[in-house]
Amino acid sequence: MSDVISTDVVIIGAGPCGLFAIFELGLLDIKCHVIDILDRAGGQCAELYPEKPIYDIPALPLVTGADLTTRLMEQAKPFKPEFHFNQMVTSLEKRGENDFHLTTDGGLEFQCKVVVIAAGGGSFQPKKPPIPGIEAYEGASVYYSVKKMEALRGKDILIIGGGDSALDWTNNLQPIAKSLTLLHRRDEFRAAPDSVGKMRALVEAGKMQLKIGQVTGLKGEGGVLAAATVKGADGASFDIACNAMLPFFGLTMKLGPVANWGLNLTENLVSVDTAKFETNVPGIFAVGDINTYAGKLKLILSGFHEAALMAQQAFRYINPGERLLFQYTTSSTNLQKKLGVA
Ligand SMILES: Cc1cc2nc3c(=O)[nH]c(=O)nc-3n(C[C@H](O)[C@H](O)[C@H](O)COP(=O)(O)OP(=O)(O)OC[C@H]3O[C@@H](n4cnc5c(N)ncnc54)[C@H](O)[C@@H]3O)c2cc1C
Repeated sequence: MSDVISTDVVIIGAGPCGLFAIFELGLLDIKCHVIDILDRAGGQCAELYPEKPIYDIPALPLVTGADLTTRLMEQAKPFKPEFHFNQMVTSLEKRGENDFHLTTDGGLEFQCKVVVIAAGGGSFQPKKPPIPGIEAYEGASVYYSVKKMEALRGKDILIIGGGDSALDWTNNLQPIAKSLTLLHRRDEFRAAPDSVGKMRALVEAGKMQLKIGQVTGLKGEGGVLAAATVKGADGASFDIACNAMLPFFGLTMKLGPVANWGLNLTENLVSVDTAKFETNVPGIFAVGDINTYAGKLKLILSGFHEAALMAQQAFRYINPGERLLFQYTTSSTNLQKKLGVA
């Protein structure tokens, strides 16, 4: 376990609501660390619909999921948030008043005064292909995400899928692989046309192979994969030699570890009061899609409002006894200095 990271607030989830929480807390001089399972910010906007236009963000008549994420990151930048990606918060423990300890599956440990859960629909988890015995190879030869590209250098790689992740990783890993095969159940792809074009060019140049079919079994020993058996489009079976297999079958969302933190839940959502968006545990707040209350709408704009009210109460925990002045960003030189514009 590494050294404990101490901070005012830990935000669990870098979706749009977690990102706006950084801004609202920052205006009140509150420092945040943000943790997310994914390898980048944006939550559902980045993972599920980066290219789709959103039409109901106030004052932005049209913005894509990816652009909204970029704008929120820019807005949060003056407050220098520290991000920890590829980390799932697995435990959250209250050790005393305003003393919370969190750990992640990647071995990080945090201590903070306030926790903001902005975990959306919960943790994104990979959909696993229905291949008999695949569990025996997971982590040693079968990977559902790429944490370190270098670990795949010189390998015979089999990538399965037809979406953006499958095509992006095909194009990114081909230069460092010993051999690379992309397998998809048909010769049509959901991925961005540009990535599909790059992949087809690599096939044309003889630098990788594209096969059509579905994996029916795996061959190997002791977790080390030797080949995948594939049923082709014509019904005939063949083997693809590989010692690393990356199935990209999309992600599902599960509540995950949040369910074990002693919080009051209603239908798998965290109950909060609507004055502060605090849970039943003082000092733990929940904003965005993860929370529930009478009249809740699972919209991004709801999460923005919730973050603003949460920050007011977080300030009181972090600065006990200090008066909190209400200020406008348009007229407060103090706020403008924090934003770096005055
Ligand atoms: C196709 C589609 C279209 C949509 N269109 C609109 C629209 O037009 N307008 C609108 O307002 N809303 C829309 N939504 C809904 C909107 O995307 C959500 O309301 C919004 O993403 C919620 O933001 P969030 O920050 O609460 O959670 P999320 O975006 O879900 O982000 C939560 C983050 O928390 C992380 N996380 C979860 N558990 C953990 C853990 N234990 N440790 C670390 N990290 C964790 C997840 O990895 C995720 O990145 C749409 C949703 C979909 C799927």
